[in-house]
Amino acid sequence: QDDTRLTPGIVVTHHGHDLLIEDAEHHLHRGRARRTVGRLTTGDRIRWHRDEQDNVVIEQREDRRNLLIRPDAYGKKKMMAANIDQVLVVTSVLPWMNPDVVERTLVAVFALPATPVIVLNKTDLLAEIGAAERERIESTVALWESLGFEVIRTSVKSGEGIETLRSRLHDQITLAVGLSGVGKTSLSREITPSADQAAIGEISAFNREGTHTTRASTLYRFTDGEGGLIDAPGVRDFPVEDVPPSALDDAFPEIHAASAYCRFNDCRHVNEPGCAVRAGVASGDILERRLAQYQAMRQTGS
Ligand code: GDP
Ligand code: ZN
Repeated sequence: QDDTRLTPGIVVTHHGHDLLIEDAEHHLHRGRARRTVGRLTTGDRIRWHRDEQDNVVIEQREDRRNLLIRPDAYGKKKMMAANIDQVLVVTSVLPWMNPDVVERTLVAVFALPATPVIVLNKTDLLAEIGAAERERIESTVALWESLGFEVIRTSVKSGEGIETLRSRLHDQITLAVGLSGVGKTSLSREITPSADQAAIGEISAFNREGTHTTRASTLYRFTDGEGGLIDAPGVRDFPVEDVPPSALDDAFPEIHAASAYCRFNDCRHVNEPGCAVRAGVASGDILERRLAQYQAMRQTGS
């Protein structure tokens, strides 16, 4: 196999063995992978060429940075997307912002691994909610920022943060997750440049041909920059089955830092003597809620 004939590309979407790929010039091609390549998924970086019949043939797949796997409606594990750079963990002022949901998702993102960016959407509604609820949201966001997580405040209505978000996405392959109604679709529409309409048409024509009941994920690439947004149907959050300890530490850095001062190396921070984590909760440095969340997730892990 003469590799110099091969050109790089990325899988944009697929159904069955039919693949829609994008080349380095942002042109779309339909193609098929040689059997030896194995199953491909959205976001896979590949190398391809045209054969004698002018068919696009994918010859190689590059190593994956990560792979998002989810059970389908029948419980069968399915590859949803590969090579995700960052995950927007979208939450909103309304419906009720649930910090536990955001923090569980952070663990899952660190486990992938990918970089999380928390998005607080619908900030225009901050003026319309009660002072106590506003204070609850502001203090939670302040806590996340103090722990080192990036938080972008956005409003599709007022336009706040949209430009920041757009520049943050420019060169990254991004997946947006969050509960229904937080504004994922609205935000995606705001940040996907309208110049992509032709590609979007071509992609949806390809997707319509799929006979599969569950639609595959689609990568909508930006025309400028190397970034793109992954639309993964059904992926609102991702429960982690085996939580790697490092992902827990990344998502709960204050607990991880305190645990270095626990008397016992294997302290579970429950009722052991000399537990620095419980001492942190007692002094108010660590939120009880956060420790409970940490403990619950640690039990899910191995
Ligand atoms: P998704 O389920 O996460 O994709 O949420 P959608 O994008 O469908 O948005 C749910 C609802 O919230 C829709 O009625 C949107 O118009 C509304 N919405 C989205 N973003 C904002 C925002 O920034 N401010 C306000 N006030 N409403 C928003
Ligand atoms: Zn401890």
